[in-house]
Amino acid sequence: MMSRPCTHEPVCPEAGAPDRDAACSVAHAPEQGWALLCNGVLIFEDLGELLPSGEIVPPRRPLPHVPAARSPRRSASSSPYPSCCDQP
Ligand SMILES: [Zn+2]
Repeated sequence: MMSRPCTHEPVCPEAGAPDRDAACSVAHAPEQGWALLCNGVLIFEDLGELLPSGEIVPPRRPLPHVPAARSPRRSASSSPYPSCCDQP
């Protein structure tokens, strides 16, 4: 599939970029639940994506609530990461 050069300012992220969702939408079919982004990514309502390469990105709905990693012994440091590897 040919990718059109982006004419937006600032330039949209490429299809392979982690922030590809931020590209401008050039076609939108809300009744069908998809939008075509400037970088050729087809993005669906449920956040699934079809990349120009043909690669399919599974839907990644934002989870309403993700329980925080349980740490029975909460250390004084407020690191958001589970400290399984740096225990003494
Ligand atoms: Zn663009």
